Amino acid sequence: MKTRADDPAGLYVHVPFCRQKCRYCDFYSIPYTSLKPSTSLVTEWLHALDQEAMLYKDRFAFFDTLYLGGGTPTLLATDEPARLVEILQRHFAFCPDAEISLEANPNDVTLEKLHLFRELGFNRISLGVQSMDDRELAFLGRTHSARQAARVMERIRASGFPGFGVDLIYGLPRQTEAEWRRTLQETLAFSPNHISCYQLTVSRGTPLWEMQEAGLFEPPDEEQERALFLTASEVLEGQGFVHYEVSNFASGTAHFCRHNVKYWERAPYLGLGPSAHSFQGDTRWWNHRSVRKYCGDLNRGRRPVQGSERLSEEQVSLERLSLQLRTKAGTAIRDLSDYEKADRVLPGLLEAGLLEVIGERAVPTREGFLVADRLPLLFF
Ligand code: SF4
Repeated sequence: MKTRADDPAGLYVHVPFCRQKCRYCDFYSIPYTSLKPSTSLVTEWLHALDQEAMLYKDRFAFFDTLYLGGGTPTLLATDEPARLVEILQRHFAFCPDAEISLEANPNDVTLEKLHLFRELGFNRISLGVQSMDDRELAFLGRTHSARQAARVMERIRASGFPGFGVDLIYGLPRQTEAEWRRTLQETLAFSPNHISCYQLTVSRGTPLWEMQEAGLFEPPDEEQERALFLTASEVLEGQGFVHYEVSNFASGTAHFCRHNVKYWERAPYLGLGPSAHSFQGDTRWWNHRSVRKYCGDLNRGRRPVQGSERLSEEQVSLERLSLQLRTKAGTAIRDLSDYEKADRVLPGLLEAGLLEVIGERAVPTREGFLVADRLPLLFF
């Protein structure tokens, strides 16, 4: 199924600045401190963003989600957030009930900034807490303490954001179930309505990769990872959260992250900023990672696109099933007949307790989520 240009789309904006790089981070961002004393690169990036938005203004009819990610959007200061929103509103149309999210870092979230983003129309905030254990935060190279994170979670609650999400990381070397459970429980005390639990990935090229290569730590084994994953699911479902995607939990369907649901449903989205990805119809494209190259291209009137791909029917089919089997929505059983091996594979997966039938859909169980990456390949 192709997406249409007049489907409501999602808009992602990548803010390519961070206070300092975290050891595990593979996202594109440059340390903000390296921009001082001149912050002209932020001004240049905003100017380039304005030009990039102009290039796409007729290609996407309207948006019902906006996600300001990065990088660290809460590093933007003074009039920069307002300027950013003004650019987006000038070029694009948004639905009145659009979900407008921003990512935040405990280092930079003052009450004043929270009010500023609320006044600009942001209705959802996702805070990168990662852990409530200072030793783990230091290992990850985070620049805030658990206490700071707790203070900011209180502030967010007080500032009246209707959507409040927290990002956590598990699977640190020698992390015990009890330690992970403590982080989950201390986070729950601040009543977020969304929690993402990501397994630590050690990506090549990051400082953590170097440390691992140097033998400074051993990654957890599969059994440990499995136990930590199950702990998160049990603790959070026990508190009434819906485990609606492999790594995502919400306190009810109204608090699912609508923007991320678009990615899993293969809805169209536009990504602006360095390294941002976009998808429309059967085509995906992505921008240069370097903010300087990004600004340079736009200053010359060129799209800052580094690459693009058009998916074949088979790729679309695998991708669709892979995404569906990562979510609690699962896949319609009648659609499975499109897959060559479905008749043989489905009964086995049901019997093994990796999928279950709910209504007319085959949906992954908690155990199924554990092997979500492998499940779709069985159907081909
Ligand atoms: S704050 Fe987020 S984007 Fe920035 S370096 Fe850390 S993990 Fe990466």
